[in-house]
Amino acid sequence: MIFASDYFKQRFGHKMYKASISLDVTCPNRDGTRGTGGCIFCSAGGSGEFSEAPGNVAFQIDAAIERVRGKAGEDAGYIAYFQSFTNTYCAAEYLDGVLSQAASHPKVEAVSIATRPDCLPDNIVEIISKYSSKIPVFVELGLQTFRDDTAERINRCYKTEEYAQAVDVLHGIGVNVITHIIFGLPGETEEDMLNTVRYAASCGTDGVKFTCLYVLKGTPLETMWREGKVEVLDREEYFEIVGRALELLPEETVVHRLTGDGPKSLLLAPMWTADKRQVVNYINRRFRR
Ligand code: SF4
Repeated sequence: MIFASDYFKQRFGHKMYKASISLDVTCPNRDGTRGTGGCIFCSAGGSGEFSEAPGNVAFQIDAAIERVRGKAGEDAGYIAYFQSFTNTYCAAEYLDGVLSQAASHPKVEAVSIATRPDCLPDNIVEIISKYSSKIPVFVELGLQTFRDDTAERINRCYKTEEYAQAVDVLHGIGVNVITHIIFGLPGETEEDMLNTVRYAASCGTDGVKFTCLYVLKGTPLETMWREGKVEVLDREEYFEIVGRALELLPEETVVHRLTGDGPKSLLLAPMWTADKRQVVNYINRRFRR
């Protein structure tokens, strides 16, 4: 495996930063098409609390670049990151328009689209394919677990085989697939979590993003956690699993994230994830040496 920072430097010749964008979309797991209420851990913002309110894409990219300019410097490149909710759950013309705005932004060198495997109909795949011949395109799929019974417990509302099919379709159009995996989902053993990593690798995912399950205010998970039906992982437990997961990945798999951090205003547990600086220091000590 290779860490994303090294991969991006090799591929783009410099550091890459994400410019997060919110689109005017929702999710089929919220509007009743596939389910209602959303995945049990998903906040009302659809995991997009770090991006701007929906609106003009170029404006959102400029605002995101402005926020990190001091840290990034003038030589950095940017990935337009369509982050919140399900960014292919829309009309093909709308996706075409927003990708066009992102791909033509002078500072944007790649785009990354977060979505669900069951939201890639032919007309959407055609649009993604059109842009993947112009600019590197990453599609981020929220797998979370390979176990269909866990998927039911967390209200994911699609079958794991749909993920495998989506990876094949995306590879067929030259898109780089990043798979989101959560460690600590209710009812899962460590072996289950590692089997999810093995499964994603066997499907040929190009990259992974790991996160520990965290509890946000206002989610169904909050109720389960308050009722004592769910426990969260402590820092040592979590990074032990991450360490084992990294050993399972093929040499060329890119690790884009070792853990996520929920919005502080909504985070209830585990609180060790709130101290981002400490987590980064810990990761650097433990994994990067
Ligand atoms: S599919 Fe994504 S946006 Fe939809 S409810 Fe689940 S985590 Fe939230």
